[in-house]
Amino acid sequence: MGDKMRVEKINVYQAVMTLHKPFRIAYGETREAKTVFIEVVTDTGVNGWGEAPPTSKITGETVDTVVGAIRLMAGSLYDLDITGYMDVYRVIDATLRSNQAAKDGLVTAILDAVSKSLGTPLYKLLGGGGNIIRSDVTIGLDSPEAMARDAVSWVERGFRAIKVKLGGPLEIDFERVRMIRDSIGAGVEIRVDANQAWSPKEALKASRVLERYDVAIIEQPVHYRDYEGLRTVKWGSSIPIIADESVHTSRDAALLASMEAVDGVNVKIAKSGGMLEGLRIASVAEAFGLDLMVGCMVESPLGIAAAAHMVAAHGGFKYIDLDSDLMLSDHPVRDSFRRERDEIILGEKPGLGVEVDVGKLVKLAEIRVSKPQPAI
Ligand SMILES: [Mg+2]
Repeated sequence: MGDKMRVEKINVYQAVMTLHKPFRIAYGETREAKTVFIEVVTDTGVNGWGEAPPTSKITGETVDTVVGAIRLMAGSLYDLDITGYMDVYRVIDATLRSNQAAKDGLVTAILDAVSKSLGTPLYKLLGGGGNIIRSDVTIGLDSPEAMARDAVSWVERGFRAIKVKLGGPLEIDFERVRMIRDSIGAGVEIRVDANQAWSPKEALKASRVLERYDVAIIEQPVHYRDYEGLRTVKWGSSIPIIADESVHTSRDAALLASMEAVDGVNVKIAKSGGMLEGLRIASVAEAFGLDLMVGCMVESPLGIAAAAHMVAAHGGFKYIDLDSDLMLSDHPVRDSFRRERDEIILGEKPGLGVEVDVGKLVKLAEIRVSKPQPAI
């Protein structure tokens, strides 16, 4: 404790991960997922890892923009003691606007390194007690019959909550939820996510119909910029409305909360710029009495572990949707958390508790964090 720690070098890698089957939502389909791994090499010999999954349709990022953003942020890390990670986060965040996944990858890698050097699991460093969290699992868009079959097989594996992707047309969406509810019975929670596909009028109609099938929440019914539309739907719907794409940072959450436009917010660390900002969103949500949800992009067990540490650290997340690792047939993570039924169980290893198989990664950049040389 008390020892300073500086970043000397940042390695940026790409990984291409394959999915068991294509994953379809309202605005696109994923067959394989490109993600970026960030490794910070420190002057203490301890390295930290983070994941920056670029999701162009949500944060506007690509593999290339992540590399550029990391290069820029590396320049501001010079001479900073990263054990003071809150200050470091402020510096990183002030370096450039947006680029949330890149910030997430760098912040996570720094927190992994700091908690490793202190010999503690990350969730404990951030104030957490319990190491077990219970997640739902997501069913991608498909025919109502296929989605109902999927739901049954996950319930048989022990899941007590199912998240259902919707996206129109409305009559097919209703059929999807009806068939899933009929197939899995009354005891399993159903959450739905329209991924911005509906107009406010359609969302109000959907809410009235979906009530019949005991739907717990509706995520992002309308366009992400339509805060007024969200408010209209929230006040007209008996089912709680959760904002996802509408909320990136704590400022978005504060604005939506002050407008009384939603019942809850979905935090994703790749949207917020990492888990420190994610925890700020959680504070805003608590202050305004909003429900807290956590979600993920299509990311490896490394990114899922980071989000799980945030959730375990905070303790107040009500809806947990950390499941993209279950969709992957191949990824570069050797060892991470344990899954049992619908539970994610974090281990007692220091840091994130994740081992990366570097042999499966393609190195994109090696960025030195050093004092800028004066121009001659
Ligand atoms: Mg969502």
